[in-house]
Amino acid sequence: MEKSDVIIIGAGPAGSSCARQLHQHGLKVSLLDKSQFPRNKVCAGWVTPEVMQSLDIDLDDYASSRVLQPIRSFRTSRIGSRDVYTQYDDVVSYGIRRSEFDHYLLERSGVECHMNEPVKSIRRDNNIWIINDHFSAPLLIGAGGHFCPVARHLGAHVGASEAPVTAQEVEFEMTEQQSKSCPVDAETPELFFTPDLKGYGWVFRKGNFLNIGLGRQDRNKLSMHVDNFINELKRAGRVPENIPGKLNGHAYLLYNDAPRRVYDDGVLLIGDSAGLAYQQSGEGIRPAIESALLAAKTIIDAKGNYSPAHLAGYETALRQRFGDKMLPQKNHSPSRLKCLLAGILLRSKWFARHIVINRWFLHQQQAALTDLKHT
Ligand SMILES: Cc1cc2nc3c(=O)[nH]c(=O)nc-3n(C[C@H](O)[C@H](O)[C@H](O)COP(=O)(O)OP(=O)(O)OC[C@H]3O[C@@H](n4cnc5c(N)ncnc54)[C@H](O)[C@@H]3O)c2cc1C
Repeated sequence: MEKSDVIIIGAGPAGSSCARQLHQHGLKVSLLDKSQFPRNKVCAGWVTPEVMQSLDIDLDDYASSRVLQPIRSFRTSRIGSRDVYTQYDDVVSYGIRRSEFDHYLLERSGVECHMNEPVKSIRRDNNIWIINDHFSAPLLIGAGGHFCPVARHLGAHVGASEAPVTAQEVEFEMTEQQSKSCPVDAETPELFFTPDLKGYGWVFRKGNFLNIGLGRQDRNKLSMHVDNFINELKRAGRVPENIPGKLNGHAYLLYNDAPRRVYDDGVLLIGDSAGLAYQQSGEGIRPAIESALLAAKTIIDAKGNYSPAHLAGYETALRQRFGDKMLPQKNHSPSRLKCLLAGILLRSKWFARHIVINRWFLHQQQAALTDLKHT
């Protein structure tokens, strides 16, 4: 049996950030992931500067051998309509490749990593968690993304009563010819809202890589919506005719739609496992990292007592950071009037800058989560 203080399932941004924090405070962490890193993750790979700040990432060091695409402007529109160009004086976001970003975070976590280790069994004996009949610890953290086995263990009805965002994406390195003829400016991601306002698509160039995708708060006919979107992009000459590889899909929960219990006796969920992605943008990396830091603070403050009463502060901290949840809406379909109004608003330069980009996508109203004091 391999004993540690904490077992973390999932080595994505949430798992590795929490692991690093706990390791720095002297806890022995076992970090398990079913994949071998570097691995791909379905994602557009867009992070705000607050993510880099919270993680204390040295940008020069990061960019020395990885893609770090500065973003200084955006194009936003409703699919098929004229776009609005929003420009900034400075860098307001970055494009990263998840295979590189996640591997970087994992390597600098400093903890013992067990890759190629899918969770096959979870049991608890005398207040000690035992994973795969081999790893044991008094505390278990679920960071395995939307389909996290720890979330299931806590009773999450994955794929049943939950209403996740579903999305498809492809990222590929352009050939010299594709690169020359691609009109997408690397410093300007392009966002395209669907006419029914249930989602949006994007074209995002990171150096010589092109990332194209679409996500929706509606599982119906996703592939049809994605095909229509890509055909529209091709028709408008924004992306190459011959996109290599197939689109990959994934699902995850937005904060307000996530009914999951995030803690129990000796166990916590962080990141997508807890269902924390931002409601409007679907951005999940920042909430994954912030929840990891908040969980680590709760754990360090608990000083080895992981009873529900000692872990409850984590849920409170999430609420303080991400807000109270609104009552669940039965139907995500905006009315025709709202769609019409949104069409008008999306053409407004003021709305695009101050609401869509600054508030929904950059979260400029919220400073980076840094300097968490421990009691
Ligand atoms: C198409 C798409 C585009 C997106 N674009 C963006 C974006 O541009 N910016 C942004 O901020 N967010 C984006 N998101 C959301 C973002 O990808 C997630 O919110 C983020 O990856 C959550 O991080 P995490 O660490 O919680 O989980 P993950 O990154 O999913 O990591 C979970 C880890 O757990 C491991 N795991 C899973 N099951 C098991 C198991 N049974 N046993 C062991 N290990 C397991 C997996 O291998 C994985 O490494 C996007 C999502 C999608 C689907």
